[in-house]
Amino acid sequence: AVTRTPLMAGNWKMNLNHQEAVVLVQKLAWTLSDKRHDHAKAEVVVVPPFTDLRSVQTLVDGDRLPVKYGAQDVSMHESGAYTGEISAGMLAKLGCSYVVVGHSERREHHGETDEVVNAKAQRALAAGMTPIVCVGEGLEVRQAGGQVEHCVGQVTGSLAGLSAEQVAGLVVAYEPVWAIGTGEVATPDDAQEVCAAVREYVRASHGDEAADAVRVLYGGSVKAANVAGIMAQPDVDGCLVGGASLQAEEFAGICRYY
Ligand code: PEP
Repeated sequence: AVTRTPLMAGNWKMNLNHQEAVVLVQKLAWTLSDKRHDHAKAEVVVVPPFTDLRSVQTLVDGDRLPVKYGAQDVSMHESGAYTGEISAGMLAKLGCSYVVVGHSERREHHGETDEVVNAKAQRALAAGMTPIVCVGEGLEVRQAGGQVEHCVGQVTGSLAGLSAEQVAGLVVAYEPVWAIGTGEVATPDDAQEVCAAVREYVRASHGDEAADAVRVLYGGSVKAANVAGIMAQPDVDGCLVGGASLQAEEFAGICRYY
C-alpha cells in the first residue's frame, strides 16, 4: 500500500510585518503542540515572504519546531546578473524544504509560462528542495468544462524533462483560479476530479511508482470548516492555503483536519 504523508502548506503571500511573521510561526507551533497534532497525519509547512525566511529559520532551528518552511518563488537562473532575483541555492542555504512555483498570481501578474515554471522546478530540485508546482483553470475554462484538459496540460509542460524519481518526490497543487481568495471553495468532487486526473497523467507519463508517491494538493479558499470534505477525497493529499494560513488557530485547525 502507498502511504503519502498529507501536506498542509500556508502561503502567506505578501502579508504581515516581520514581527507578526515571527509571532505567527510561534503561535502555530504552540497551537499544534497544545492540540497534540499528529505530524504523521499532516506535515506542516509555512511559506513566508523572502524577507522573513532567516528569522523563521532561526526560530524553527533554535526551538526545534516541528514546522517546515519554504519560499513563494525562486529564480529560473542559477546565479549572476539577475537583479532582484533569489536563487534556489540561496533558499536551500536558508533551510527551505519547499518552493512554490507557478502560483496563479505569478502566472497572471508576471507572465510565467509552463516553460518558466518548469525551469524553476528544475532549479529547486537541483538544490535539494521540493517544488510545489501550481496549476489551475480560470472561470471561463471551468464554465466550458475544460478544467481537466487545462490542468493536465499545465502539468505536462511544468514537469517536462523530469525523471520518474523527481516527479515522485514533488508536489502538485491544483488551485482553480476562481477559488483563490474568493471564498468560493471547489466542491470535494471538483477537487477530486482534477487531482485524480493529475495522478493518472503522472501514471501514464512516469509510471506507477511516481503516480502513487506524488502528492497532489488542493488550494482555493480552504478553511478549517471545509477542509475535512476535501481531505476525504482519495487523490487529495493536502492543501495549499492562502488567507486562512495567516491565523494560527485557523491554520492549525486545517492541519488537524482528521
Ligand atoms: C493560494 O493563494 O494558494 C490560496 C489557495 O489562497 P486562498 O486560500 O486565500 O484562497
